[in-house]
Parts: sequence; structure tokens; C-alpha cells
Amino acid sequence: MNQIGHFIDGKRVDGTSGRTQPVFNPATGEIQADVALASDAEIRAAVENAKAAQPAWAATNPQRRARVFMKFVDLLNQNMDELAVMLSKEHGKTVEDSRGDIVRGLEVCEFVIGIPHLSKSEFTEGAGPNIDMYSIRQPVGIGAGITPFNFPAMIPMWMFAPAIACGNAFILKPSERDPSVPLRLAELMIEAGLPAGILNVVNGGKSAVDALLADPDIGAISFVGSTPIARYVYGTATASGKRAQCFGGAKNHMIIMPDADLDQAANALMGAGYGSAGERCMAISVAVPVGEETANRLIDKLTPMVESLRIGPYTDDKADLGPVVTKEAQARIRGLIDKGVEEGAKLVVDGRDFKLQGYEDGYFVGGCLFDDVTPDMDIYKTEIFGPVLSVVRAKNYEEALDLPMRHEYGNGVAIYTRDGDAARDFASRINIGMVGINVPIPVPLAYHSFGGWKSSSFGDLNQHGTDSIRFWTRTKTVTSRWPSGIKDGAEFVMPVMK
Ligand code: NAD
Repeated sequence: MNQIGHFIDGKRVDGTSGRTQPVFNPATGEIQADVALASDAEIRAAVENAKAAQPAWAATNPQRRARVFMKFVDLLNQNMDELAVMLSKEHGKTVEDSRGDIVRGLEVCEFVIGIPHLSKSEFTEGAGPNIDMYSIRQPVGIGAGITPFNFPAMIPMWMFAPAIACGNAFILKPSERDPSVPLRLAELMIEAGLPAGILNVVNGGKSAVDALLADPDIGAISFVGSTPIARYVYGTATASGKRAQCFGGAKNHMIIMPDADLDQAANALMGAGYGSAGERCMAISVAVPVGEETANRLIDKLTPMVESLRIGPYTDDKADLGPVVTKEAQARIRGLIDKGVEEGAKLVVDGRDFKLQGYEDGYFVGGCLFDDVTPDMDIYKTEIFGPVLSVVRAKNYEEALDLPMRHEYGNGVAIYTRDGDAARDFASRINIGMVGINVPIPVPLAYHSFGGWKSSSFGDLNQHGTDSIRFWTRTKTVTSRWPSGIKDGAEFVMPVMK
């Protein structure tokens, strides 16, 4: 059995805790590796190692730090095929989709190549007589990142690229479901010229997270995962004085106005609802057609499309989507679909019994389409995180707008319309972090920032973009007067700039 350990001090190391967890191939249900679960002592050793390496890295000039990322981007491109297959094999998504996962992380690495410019600060000459004032941004020291299973390449890179470019050392605790790509990324960072100890990867579950949260040498925690854990990590980290940015779950709506191009909207819903088996935090899981006629036409268009989805293992390069990540996820999703039927929603396309010949033990769920879903139903309130789209019919624009406004989550939302006035009003009034206008999955590019509102995010600075530079650095403001010394003797009143 393949054993997956940790990555500390620039190399792979075996786990020593004696505790492991199986890593499955979701397409076949087979165990393909055992991943080590780190003990508190192993976490502590990773932090000590990072602590010893960090000062020299912080003192390395930013151009040299940027050059590591230039080389790393090259290496990612050279190793793209190997990484994408490795990712699909543990996650289950199609290889093409895995490439997207890697490329979206790679783009953050490209962004941080600008670190010499991004980390420049403010200077005021002559703020007072002979006084200059400037602020500098210094690394926090050691940061830790805790990442979910659904983007095992992109999300670690969202975090470690800006953290490391800013001069921090970084400890990554990836999802225990698909740990191989994060470890390989760390290896490639070393190959790109990163000093040992600046990026350590420790595998594990809750206890590893708790050890990171309790560690006094870690100054900043970045988390992405489900909302209950995000809330817990944010509360625990901030209670001990760490800065934290924690991103949670989602229930993303797409409003379809009567004037929308329905072919475009239906195609967008297929990709955004069922791509990656719905296991994206920016997946559209609720479609809100405005008016009965729009709703009827939309259901007519979607039904045959959902029925003909091609579902397969990652080795099928024509598959639209793969299995879901675990047997538990499969059972949970099927249970929620049963609940939707019990609650009175109309299951127009039922994928619960989908079976793939030769892959009977894989964690497949067929595409499902619900109509007549109402806001009081569990399938509306809960993040299903599977290939299930719910249609909630709205009488008019205000009723449609009200749905995502009132929902607990606020990650992403989209509107499909040809009316600029409606789109503008929507973008302005909606209480959600990322808005798409005729764009179904409005994930901002690396030089903008990513983050939701409401229960989708805790903390105030987003991932990537200039927010990430602020998150991974502390501001120090220096007031200096030259020549030194106060010529006129002591001053006893509060100094003010005259
Ligand atoms: P998860 O919350 O189960 O796990 C995320 C991380 O937390 C993992 O590293 C896991 O080991 C750790 N963890 C799990 N249980 C823990 C506990 N009790 N205490 C401390 N740490 C714990 O999430 P997941 O199933 O891996 O990922 C799917 C979720 O992530 C979905 O809810 C999805 O919406 C969300 N997500 C959000 C974003 C975003 O940017 N908002 C992006 C991707 C995924």
C-alpha cells in the first residue's frame, strides 16, 4: 500500500504517529493509499523547522522571492499532465477539470511574481519639520493554511503563494481525502529554489488542525472548507490572538429574467450546476426563473440536458462529470434527494440509482433536477454539494432577488438578462460577495480577490488580489526625524503635526 507522509524541511518524511487514514479512488471505491495523520509532536516539529528558516527568507529581497515563483510557474506547466491525473485519481473530477484547478492556482503564483511592486509601501516626506513618515509591510512570520478536498491544487496555492511571496514560512494542512497534489506542489517549490522549511506540508484531520490553532508561533490562519468548521477555526484562532480568514459553504443562485437568452442560461446552468459533480463552492445549486413562462421553458430545456449528462471515471475523457468524493458524500447526497421528494419538491430527473458498468463500487450520483422547490425545504437551505439543481420559481424580479438576499450563505450569485438596468440594480443591491452578470461562476481572477459574505466567510480580508498581501503582512509605521535628537529639549504636550 502506498504510504503518504508529510513534507518537512524540504523533503518527504514518513508519519510517525502510527495513525493513518485510507485515500480512495472515488471512481472505483478502491483504497489506493494510506495517508499519515500527524501527531501534535509532528506538527510542532514542522513549526520549529519553519521558524528556523523564516528570518533568512524574509530577508531575501523580493525580486529573488519572485524568481522562485517564476520558476515554479514553469514547473507547473511542465508537470501539468502528471499533476492533473494525480488530482483526478484522488478527487474524481475529470482530468480537464483538474487542469482548471491547477491553472487557477498557477495564476495566483503569476500574480505574486509582482511582489516587489505589491509590497511597496507609503512614504510622506516632511510630515512635520524634518520629519518623514513611512509604513512598511512585514511578514506575519509563520502562517498556516487548512484546505478542503474540492480544489487540492488551487486553494493551497491561493494561500501559500502570497504568504511565501510576502516573506512568511507556511504550513499547509491539506484535505486528508486528496493529499498527493499538495505534497507534489511542495516538492516543485523546492525544485524552483525555495529554501527548505519555508513550505511544510503536514497531513491530518481535526487534531492536526487543533494543534496548528494552538501553536503560539503561528501568527495567521487561512481556512477554506465547510461553514461549521470555518466558524470554529475563526473563533478559535482569533480567540488566541491570531489573524484569520475563514471561508465556508455556499448555496449559489442564478436568477433567469424573462428577457434572458434561455439557451445561454440553460448551458450555463449545466456547467455550473453539474460540473465537478456540483462539488464547487461556486457551483450554481439554485435556479430562479422569473415568471411561469420562463420557468416552464427552462425546465423543458434542462430536462433532456440533465438526462443526457455523461458521467464517468477520470479516464473517460468525454465525461462531463465524475463521481463524488466519498461513499459518505454519496449517501448524504442521496439522502438529501430523498428528503426533497418527501418535502414535496418535484424530482424531474432522478439520478439516485445511476450505476456505471464496471464501476459499480464508484461513488457516482446521476444528475438530478428538482422543480417547485420552496425556501422552507431542507434541499433549499442545505448545501448539497452534489450534482443536484433546484428550481425555485419566482413571480417577479423582487421575489427572485429576495431569495439569495435572505439565504444564510453569500458566496456567489448570477443573473441572466439582457436588461442593463436590472443587472445594475441587482449587482448594487445583492448582499453576496461575488456577482456574475451573464456569467454563471464569477470566480474573480488572481489579481482581484475571492471571498463571500454572510455565513460563507469569516474575517475581513479575501483570498488573493491585494487583500492577500494585506493579510499575510503586518503594517509598521515609522516616524523619523533627522538629524537625531530633540534640539529644543523635552516636549511635554502631545506632539501634533504643525
Ligand atoms: P471540511 O470542512 O470537511 O474540511 C476542510 C478542512 O477542515 C480539511 O482540511 C479538514 O481536514 C479540516 N477539518 C474537518 N473537520 C474538522 C474539524 N472538526 N475541526 C477542524 N478541522 C476540520 O470541507 P470539505 O468537505 O473538505 O470541503 C467542502 C466544503 O468546502 C464545502 O462546504 C464547500 O462549499 C467549501 N468550500 C468553500 C470555498 C470558499 O472559498 N468559500 C471553497 C472551496 C470549498
